[in-house]
Amino acid sequence: MKFSNLALSAPILSAVADEGYETPTPIQAKAIPAILSGKDVMAAAQTGTGKTAGFVLPILENLSKEKPTRGNQVRALVLTPTRELAAQVYESVRTYSKNLNLRSGVVFGGVKINPQMIKLKGGVDILVATPGRLLDLHNQNAVKFQYLDVLVLDEADRMLDMGFIHDIKKVLKLLPKKCQHLLFSATFSHEIRDLAKGMINNPIEISVSPRNTTVDAVEHFLYPVDKAQKISVLVELIKSGNWQQALVFSRTKHGANRITKKLEQKGISAAAIHGNKSQGARTRALANFKEGVVKILVATDIAARGIDINQLPQVVNFDLPNVAEDYIHRIGRTARAGASGKAISLVSADEFDQLKDIERLLKQLIARKEMENFMPTLPLPTSTLDTRPIRAKRPKKIKPKISKRLSTRRS
Ligand code: AMP
Repeated sequence: MKFSNLALSAPILSAVADEGYETPTPIQAKAIPAILSGKDVMAAAQTGTGKTAGFVLPILENLSKEKPTRGNQVRALVLTPTRELAAQVYESVRTYSKNLNLRSGVVFGGVKINPQMIKLKGGVDILVATPGRLLDLHNQNAVKFQYLDVLVLDEADRMLDMGFIHDIKKVLKLLPKKCQHLLFSATFSHEIRDLAKGMINNPIEISVSPRNTTVDAVEHFLYPVDKAQKISVLVELIKSGNWQQALVFSRTKHGANRITKKLEQKGISAAAIHGNKSQGARTRALANFKEGVVKILVATDIAARGIDINQLPQVVNFDLPNVAEDYIHRIGRTARAGASGKAISLVSADEFDQLKDIERLLKQLIARKEMENFMPTLPLPTSTLDTRPIRAKRPKKIKPKISKRLSTRRS
């Protein structure tokens, strides 16, 4: 299969060729014809599968055939859970549409709203947005959807995890019923299917496995370690392994700050990204990390979600995530696109329950290693594999919002 077999026009094919893509990924091969046909699509695909081009390319193709946009109107809307993902999808839109005469834009919270209002004035053909800011803009009449052709919910599972269900429903109410609906999600839980019921009509369902089946492509192992020793173990790993680049996951924002500070004190360049950081600080940290100015990026799960850093040699779970699926998301950051990678977890005795859940999900035990000078005083119990099947989660009751929309949702 070649891109030229996919009924995309020359300007789009040329932009794709400029990116060096030779063949469509499995999700692209399936999603592009389905979206070009105008049908609704539900696609199970994770970051790293090429899903973004999978929806952006056919949307651009369809948009380029119709009349251009007009004042404050949007023709294609992509909703994403995080600002980072919005910025990245927008970058992809710009890259793939560089030979087309289409207007694109991105809007998210945490930055001034006025420039976004000005940008929307003349209308945009394709708008990438996070839900809260989009609703704010709509409330101020800065964006209109009368001529909307297509809506994409990207990483829908994460949007629900982050409590965006009410905002998504509000947005859906504002859109023309006849528009094409595309739903991309890593998993199809009951919640996602419930959401789809109210929005998707007779969809084409697509499912592909991640480009690297994380569990197999990644060498993962853990060090049993006392909580208080975790920083020292991390420093030892970085120094003895002469690491040049690693992503470290912390469960909390406070933890991410603390780890960063301690690493800096030991002379290791590090930066934290999480929801309490300004957008500018997050973008800067990511850029510095990509350029190698910062060696260690310390992130919370939500802030790291969707950021496009390919082929990280190692990912460290400074603490284990509470939700086992997050372990898969985290280690998916290493060994991307066929490269090998390491996922290393520092596990203290109080995290044994999380470890058991993760091993059950992985259907394998994680190999244990020891570091001579850091043997735990509180031993991590030996785990045995729980082979009972994991039942799909029941829909969660979403708690009503109590405080300011955006400030409560950042990770
Ligand atoms: P995504 O899953 O959309 O986050 O894409 C993951 C990465 O794959 C991005 O860095 C894309 O630039 C890259 N990519 C997307 N499509 C292709 C393709 N057909 N061939 C090679 N790389 C691709």
